[in-house]
Amino acid sequence: MPVVVDRHLCLNDNYKRMACRRCAAACPHDCFAANLAVDAGRCTDCGLCLAACPADAVAGEAFPRAPLDKVFADQAAPLALACRRRQADSPWPCLGFLDGRLLLALAVSGGDGRRRVAVDDTACAACRPEVAARLEEIVVEANRLLLLAGRPPIGRDGDMGQTAKEPPISRRAFFSALFGAAVDTVREVAAAGTAGADRLPRHEWFGRHVGAAVFAGETPSPFFASLAIGDTCLGCGLCIRICPHGALTAEDHGTALDFYHHPARCSGCGLCAAHCPQQALTVAHPGRPDTYHVAWRELPRCRSCGQVFQPVGSQPVCIECLLKNTGRNILPNDTEDKL
Ligand SMILES: [Zn+2]
Repeated sequence: MPVVVDRHLCLNDNYKRMACRRCAAACPHDCFAANLAVDAGRCTDCGLCLAACPADAVAGEAFPRAPLDKVFADQAAPLALACRRRQADSPWPCLGFLDGRLLLALAVSGGDGRRRVAVDDTACAACRPEVAARLEEIVVEANRLLLLAGRPPIGRDGDMGQTAKEPPISRRAFFSALFGAAVDTVREVAAAGTAGADRLPRHEWFGRHVGAAVFAGETPSPFFASLAIGDTCLGCGLCIRICPHGALTAEDHGTALDFYHHPARCSGCGLCAAHCPQQALTVAHPGRPDTYHVAWRELPRCRSCGQVFQPVGSQPVCIECLLKNTGRNILPNDTEDKL
């Protein structure tokens, strides 16, 4: 079954200034048409497009949510991630749907943030080199962050990230117990319902489980975005209202706003930057994980009456003056559109 782009969630379909093509760019098989319709004949269910979407709008029946929901809900369950080629009972045909943020969320989501997670990518290089390269990259980066945070690493090739402190046990018994447990969990869930292509809410999961506190103070990582607000910002706050994840907030100081960015909530989609009437915002990767202060912005004074006000878009007069019509003559040409 091919993947689909949920038009209710795709940023392009919901916001005028978005021309995101990350799913199409990630696809190794050229499955996506200009309008992001998926060519069912080409799709191989590798899942790379799911991992690339900043809005979690790409979904496929081949990538069910229930097994991951179950792992997130069960505080201690170990998780062995394998494709169907490696584990016949795997709910996923391929591990291309994994992204670094999802892996990190899974790894820290256990009761004490020490869930055992392993990714079996033994067969990936021979089967799908694009997926192998991606898994290599994200597991290495996730493990760098986990190590810095004092958490156990994600295992490779079925190794459940055992640490040296743990008692030695038979390798074979260890794997069969852990894979067995994960597979049974998955089988039980997969049989429970035949839900269609419900999406994987990766950014929600990430925001919920990867608290800034876990990684506070760490070095920048491609898993996190950074935001800059330039001097042209007028403090209209559209970026805060438009962000689907609440990744930007501001403290109201009356005549000024203090902007904060919360990278653990930010998907890096760039919606805020695309819509800033002053083009004052820049979103980039890598970023630091902890919440930081972005800008202190003095609010402008109305060019008609002189009072401090919060503009809508780029309009230079306050709403009272607009309503009284006294400010009409100094509106920029394109302002009426935006009101
Ligand atoms: Zn005014």
